[in-house]
Amino acid sequence: MKRVAILAMGGTIAMVPAPGGGVVPALGADDLVKALPDLDAAITARTVRTLPSPSIGFADLVALADAVREEIAAGADGIVVTHGTDTIEETAIFLDLTVPGDTPVVVTGAMRPPASPGADGPANLFAAVKVATSEDARGLGVLVVMSDEVHGARFVRKGHTSSTGAFASPGFGPLGLVVEGEPRLRGFPRVGLTVPIGPKVEDIRVGLVTVALGDDGGLLRCAAPAFDGVVLAGLGAGHVPADMVPLVAEVAARIPVVLASRTGSGSVLRQTYGYPGSERDLLDRGLVHAGFLDPAKARVLLHLLLADGADRDRVTEAFDHYR
Ligand code: ASP
Repeated sequence: MKRVAILAMGGTIAMVPAPGGGVVPALGADDLVKALPDLDAAITARTVRTLPSPSIGFADLVALADAVREEIAAGADGIVVTHGTDTIEETAIFLDLTVPGDTPVVVTGAMRPPASPGADGPANLFAAVKVATSEDARGLGVLVVMSDEVHGARFVRKGHTSSTGAFASPGFGPLGLVVEGEPRLRGFPRVGLTVPIGPKVEDIRVGLVTVALGDDGGLLRCAAPAFDGVVLAGLGAGHVPADMVPLVAEVAARIPVVLASRTGSGSVLRQTYGYPGSERDLLDRGLVHAGFLDPAKARVLLHLLLADGADRDRVTEAFDHYR
């Protein structure tokens, strides 16, 4: 019988009504497991955090990655992490980058709290356990299972505030589905980049700055001095207004600046546009190409690299895995 370790981090899947109104995280892994039907798997449950996911930070992710590695070392055949959906995509890429090996690691959550009609937590947890015990899930990297869809950590995004079908992998689609309780996976293998969790992981600060129409760089100008690196969520295929270019170049000369896109899908381009502020112009000025990583995921990768003392060449090389 396969052994699955369930690690709880909080989120809506673990929330109950609070006396003052609204729902707050309160349930632990043991409580969540009670919602599962009998399964052909030995389940262990461990509560790592009981947090709403907007309050999860890098120290919590380090604790989670340690717990995942411990469970794998102790013989788990698969891991399921329950997590708030707001930042699930960042936690998924963090684990993808820091937990090597082929053991399935599946992150799931819920859009509706347990006490609401049609709560989706139990179905998502069930599907996640099924995927975590599937031989076909081995080697695909960290997965996010929501609404019977199986998404790769490098692609998945939350794209809706409240729908139970809030998750998608724009431009690529899910790596598989759970059909009648059985995983049907057609995904391609993980990228395979692993970054050690460096000693500065709790100190490094990487800013995420979104560029907008008429932007004169005011936000970047204020933000840059406070950060060790910046991800620029550029317009379109990786662009900024011409007036912003001198400032972007100045910041990129001092700290790594990764160029991503605010569009939500597709890769930053490399060689199409030639105007001031275009992707060609910015890459020539030393910005690092984010590849297919969206801004939030690019920020996690840059954070891990800087915490491990990576220089600009290593940062560029790491992002090249996602071209
Ligand atoms: N705000 C919640 C959280 O991320 C949303 C959820 O879990 O669905 O913790």
